[in-house]
Amino acid sequence: MAPVSGEIRRSDADLEAWVRPGEVERAAGESPVERFRRWWRSRFRYAGIQYWLVTEGYVVVLVFAGLYVVNGLLLGWTHAYEVSALIASPWDVPAGVEAPSWSWVPALLLSIAGWLVVTGFAGAVAGYMVLNATTNRRGLKGSRVGPLPSGEIPRLADLQYSRHGHDVPPYFALRFALRHDSDWRRAQDHWERLVARFLHTDAFDRGDGNDGVMRQAVTYTSYFLHGLSGRCPECLMAKTGSEDADAVG
Ligand SMILES: [Zn+2]
Ligand SMILES: [Zn+2]
Repeated sequence: MAPVSGEIRRSDADLEAWVRPGEVERAAGESPVERFRRWWRSRFRYAGIQYWLVTEGYVVVLVFAGLYVVNGLLLGWTHAYEVSALIASPWDVPAGVEAPSWSWVPALLLSIAGWLVVTGFAGAVAGYMVLNATTNRRGLKGSRVGPLPSGEIPRLADLQYSRHGHDVPPYFALRFALRHDSDWRRAQDHWERLVARFLHTDAFDRGDGNDGVMRQAVTYTSYFLHGLSGRCPECLMAKTGSEDADAVG
């Protein structure tokens, strides 16, 4: 990145005046890894059971799946199912199976995990249904700008066109790319980190549903960056070496 000198650094208004969209390098296509990363960083938009599943619940589900496999290998798949569904006692060993003496440990853990998953899901599903019922009655606030093509963090390249369904400042994507010397990949990376940080704050009206949350986050973040003329907080953090490696990264 070029040093920020008085000569090179111009205000956004200047940029708009002397840069035409056609002169800026186009954003390259999105690789599968980048696609997954964008989906992963967008997960905080969810509400209810989806929110729980993508933020914490997936850990429970992964632990459950791991224990299920261990028990299936030790005691057989039918028995693993019976233990997880609390049909069989974790201290039972099916006839004809030679299991190690400690096989009750993973079996007990599986039966506890099974109980947590079943009761947890039942509660979450109930909450989800209540939330959806109230949301549908209220209708969608953001419908004036049209439906979102997807509820995920949008690509900067897509924000350049008028049909993205988001409310962002004029030339926002182009200017943000220019702040990164037209490096669209780095700009997209920083844009996703910033939106993910906003999604982390929980300062949203989640009653509007997932799309509503993402709509608010995109609008807040883009106008926030619009106000910081010529700066990207992620670039500054990378420069000062204070980049953290938390859930957003
Ligand atoms: Zn940046
Ligand atoms: Zn981070």
